[in-house]
Amino acid sequence: MTVSSAIATLEWLVESGADEVVEEAPINRYLEERQDLLSSSSNVIATNTRDSQLASITRRSEDFYVSNGYSGKISQSLLELRKSVEEFDGCPLKRTATKTVFSDGNPEAQLMLIGEAPGAEEDRKGVPFVGAAGHLLDRMLAAIDLDRKSAYITNIVFWRPPGNRNPNEEEINLCLPFVKRHIALIRPRVLVLVGAIAAQTVLGKSEGISRLRGKWYSYQPEEDGIRIDTTAIFHPAFLLRQNQRKREAWQDLIAIRERLTSDLAEN
Ligand code: URA
Repeated sequence: MTVSSAIATLEWLVESGADEVVEEAPINRYLEERQDLLSSSSNVIATNTRDSQLASITRRSEDFYVSNGYSGKISQSLLELRKSVEEFDGCPLKRTATKTVFSDGNPEAQLMLIGEAPGAEEDRKGVPFVGAAGHLLDRMLAAIDLDRKSAYITNIVFWRPPGNRNPNEEEINLCLPFVKRHIALIRPRVLVLVGAIAAQTVLGKSEGISRLRGKWYSYQPEEDGIRIDTTAIFHPAFLLRQNQRKREAWQDLIAIRERLTSDLAEN
């Protein structure tokens, strides 16, 4: 830094109200705040896992499952998780979103799919994958004889990022404890990560989706928990733009169908 630019920086700092030298290096207070929030989403999970407070289950969550016909079968913990997510104010995305988008489909399904983030249509309806990409996902499921009664669908983040941008690392990390708990509660036979962001987040890998798809992984959502057969597929929004990749997507769907049927045959 030259002397003149150092003076200019100093002048700018003084004009901005900095009138005292406190530390040698700046402290990122925003980061500290985020880290507090990060531990708060983990704490929400820890508290709600510890206490099985039936009284705390909201009518809203119950109504969702009752109206979908799962009330008698669904575990209280899933209702509690849904309530915790709906009440969690730590993720900045919630401030700009209209609705919390928790899940759709059958919580007792053998197949669980995790997408990226709600879009405009999902934000309006509070249901994942109901826009153009969702319609293609429905067609992909139908191609292997599945639908929303035989699959369970959620996302890596529960609120729409403004302007449909990708969720950032911080937003993803704030939602991750809920997502891990979600997987552990649903305990699907097969977990499908839809698109690069879901695949990289859950698998903890940095490769692109072209490398991550077409393989099987053994995913353990919680330290002491079960292992789940997991794979990754192209996101339907990507397939809408890249028609020529549908051939690989079809191969992935067949592999998922085979894994589901072979698991069923073994049990
Ligand atoms: N894309 C996603 O990843 N999730 C949705 O819910 C909708 C579009």
